[in-house]
Amino acid sequence: MEEKFLSRNFEIEKAYNLDIFEEHGGYSTLSKAFSMDTDTIISEMKKSNLRGRGGAGFPTGVKWSFMPRDSDKEKYLVINADEGEPGTFKDRYIMELDPHRLIEGCVITAYTLGLRTGYIFVRGELQHAIRRLERAIKQAYEKGHLGKNIHGKGFDFDLYVHSSAGAYICGEETGLIEGLEGKPGQPRMKPPFPAIVGVFGHPTLVNNVETIASVPFIIERGGDFWASLGIEKNGGPKLFGLSGMIKKPGVYEAPCGITVRELLERFGGGMLDGSDLKAFIPGGSSCAILKPDALDAQMGIETMREAGSSMGTGCVTFIDHTTCMVRLATRLAHFYHHESCGQCTPCREGTGWAYKVINSIEAGRGRPEELELLLDICDSIQGNTICAHGDSLAIPVRSYIKTFTEEFEDHIKHQRCPFKPWRTGKSKSKVSSAA
Ligand code: SF4
Repeated sequence: MEEKFLSRNFEIEKAYNLDIFEEHGGYSTLSKAFSMDTDTIISEMKKSNLRGRGGAGFPTGVKWSFMPRDSDKEKYLVINADEGEPGTFKDRYIMELDPHRLIEGCVITAYTLGLRTGYIFVRGELQHAIRRLERAIKQAYEKGHLGKNIHGKGFDFDLYVHSSAGAYICGEETGLIEGLEGKPGQPRMKPPFPAIVGVFGHPTLVNNVETIASVPFIIERGGDFWASLGIEKNGGPKLFGLSGMIKKPGVYEAPCGITVRELLERFGGGMLDGSDLKAFIPGGSSCAILKPDALDAQMGIETMREAGSSMGTGCVTFIDHTTCMVRLATRLAHFYHHESCGQCTPCREGTGWAYKVINSIEAGRGRPEELELLLDICDSIQGNTICAHGDSLAIPVRSYIKTFTEEFEDHIKHQRCPFKPWRTGKSKSKVSSAA
């Protein structure tokens, strides 16, 4: 049985309360961090091979090192807790069950980089997480883990919870910064990167919840130890959210490098009785879909790329044989079109056209040439937009068409969904009611 880190407190009753958290060693690592040289902390973070857990997978220690150390400007910490990727639900566990771990990670990060103010930007729907965080922050202030002269070390740090309005695009770091400034969440062109021009025009470090919750363990046990728990370039354990037609959906901690098969069988309990695995999405809806022959791929940034997809957030959705892939692609396209901020033409128009064309195929009104048209639309979007939102539609839609071509062709040939034979393209009222 592997030692638990990120989920260590999940089973402990009321570990979200400060006294219980402290009983189990909470905030002791903060004292250790205060006794360390900040360059040493950054070096430990680099050694740990921790990669950002929000989906992009950028090396955390390297990201920290981009923050200007000698700038006179006020610098900010922003925690990206806007967990909105369909199929992803792990950060909320940390915020609800172990919020002080996140706060401890925030204070260590802020101390290391000389940041005096932090914001936890939480998806507005996560009201329970918001309440737990606000309560935990209040407790941390009362006990001197936040505020002025923390632990008597002469370091000041204030932390606030910001409830977002629920736009998916605020999960993108510059969209999030715009939202935090009170503006519509429209991503910015990069460069300049947030480390130079972030919140209110000041240097800003934006990190994901799970990323920062990992920091206390890295400081407690050392970067080399954390790196040794994972695979090359992907250090440590992480939280994997498992969903779909499986026996035991939920959030599980496992080392980076674990195979998807192990996740499914050891943690997820296998597929539901009567369900055959047809495909899986390894890390949220913006990832390319994979067939069961990729089950032995390891969960890591590079290994999952080699398998033809990406690790994303590490939240895997298992899809069974009763699922219509065209229908799934339709839902996905609708979501990404709906959530486009509208700044870039390829994304604003392309996601809309992709949705219209797939919806028409799914509804039994597709034409053979429309598959090529869809691929063309994906090509026009990908890489031609301000942020990766457009790619989040283009990559999966292309993969659905290429992986399940026959299913798309069947819909066009028979002018109906083979999974719902009673629905044909002849009845428009049925089509519109299903959209
Ligand atoms: Fe907005 Fe889409 Fe452009 Fe991103 S890619 S900035 S979401 S229009």
